[in-house]
Amino acid sequence: MSSERYVLALDQGTTSSRAILFDQSGNPRATGQRELTQIYPAPGWVEHDPEEIWFTEQAAVHDALVRARVSPSQIAAVGITNQRETVILWDRTTGRPIRNAIVWQCRRTADLCDALRQQGYEPLIRAKTGLVLDPYFSASKIAWTLDQTPGLRERAEKGHIAFGTVDSWLVYKLTGGRLHVTDVSNASRTMLFDISRLRWDDELLDLFRIPRSLCPEVRASSGTVGLTDPSLFGAEVPIAGLAGDQQAALFGHGCIEPGMAKNTYGTGSFLLMNTGFEPVSSQNGLISTVAWQVGDTVQYALEGSIFTTGAVVQWLRDELKIIGRAEETEALAQSVDDTGGVYFVPAFAGLGAPHWDSQARGAILGLTRSTNRAHLVRAGLESIAYMTRDVLEAMSRDSGRPLDALRSDGGAIKNNFLAQFQADILGIPVERPRITESTALGAAFLAGLGTGFWPSLDALQEVRGVERTFEPALDPETRQQLYGGWQKAVGRITG
Ligand code: ADP
Repeated sequence: MSSERYVLALDQGTTSSRAILFDQSGNPRATGQRELTQIYPAPGWVEHDPEEIWFTEQAAVHDALVRARVSPSQIAAVGITNQRETVILWDRTTGRPIRNAIVWQCRRTADLCDALRQQGYEPLIRAKTGLVLDPYFSASKIAWTLDQTPGLRERAEKGHIAFGTVDSWLVYKLTGGRLHVTDVSNASRTMLFDISRLRWDDELLDLFRIPRSLCPEVRASSGTVGLTDPSLFGAEVPIAGLAGDQQAALFGHGCIEPGMAKNTYGTGSFLLMNTGFEPVSSQNGLISTVAWQVGDTVQYALEGSIFTTGAVVQWLRDELKIIGRAEETEALAQSVDDTGGVYFVPAFAGLGAPHWDSQARGAILGLTRSTNRAHLVRAGLESIAYMTRDVLEAMSRDSGRPLDALRSDGGAIKNNFLAQFQADILGIPVERPRITESTALGAAFLAGLGTGFWPSLDALQEVRGVERTFEPALDPETRQQLYGGWQKAVGRITG
């Protein structure tokens, strides 16, 4: 066993708990991963067992340490990144959860959110939190738990109950119940946090009838918040990085200057753009959120998601059955010069930002007798790039900042055709990083920076590294013509 030191990133996601050990060069040296049971008690409801979140995370850490043959004393710091918004309430005396975690995807509080909208509270909520009034965020889930659990409100009012997002819960468990904290990025997803003043907001707490004593103390995203309980790993390790998963990914991509953005191309996509030191209020239905706090510096981001991106490829494979494997789409798309005028708008579940048309449904337009499957596949991949441009343009308009480069991760951007077309249609370079674990790397960066494992933000840029940069190669006229065609196609399916 060497004496090399590592940063341990805990990546607690919706479907699994992971642990990754990063060395000083930023290389992931070992990973542990355990699946998490999804509990569906009713249509549209999603829960997790908080104890299982903790046990699977511990098991993942154990697996990573054994695989890397690393002893806990070699861990310089722990960073945590997590599924956001998910709500856990626990008893401060016993440390036991009150009930299952209510997961971000859970729609059980749709009626409560509708009622607040009808009462005219949406502008107030938006102005203070940067969020849209939706069951997704934590506040209505906490309110539901207080209303639906007999006797809980009284116990909460007496200060016996704690609320936390998953980061809070993990820190509580890791410190043997000594700390009840969260960081600014996670707090900004609760709908109870004033993102300008950076504090829990009494008016919002009153609106959702949530006693202030439930809330964790809010800390910076980087810097030691506490030490792990020695009984856990056999060593006291500083917990020094906390951030929600998308914000951690933005940090892991090194998007630390205003105007820098990342897109994660998974089943759907998450786009975030660093907007600097003040929150930006969006005119296009995007979310404004805290990116992180490092030292005294707080940075903000605009966030938008696209419902269907990699899922287009799954649809071509599983429903149309015109490809066998996702990887085939690259060569097929490259086998034709263009789509022959075909546009594919994959609005399977409506269109999100910046169109916001939940009634819209998908369409394939511009078919001719000579359209073949390569054209269709190419149009499917191109749609991912067009939808990304739609959101990035909205972000640029909202923030008044031009985009200089797009950083990318996720399964679908392994596709070289897509990456090149994305650069072409944006007219800016698209970067694919050397280390594709951007989310876990971001948590490791925050923890490593907070403990001096990495000395500065500049050092992190060196560690990060780029696998490949795709430079735009399309002339501006063709770019505009293609994008104009897309906008027309979108116009045909929106109301
Ligand atoms: P998630 O985290 O949402 O499960 P991943 O980041 O694992 O997603 O990416 C999986 C998605 O990427 C799937 O929708 C799949 O269709 C798509 N995908 C994977 N490989 C390719 C490829 N070579 N070309 C295009 N799409 C791909």
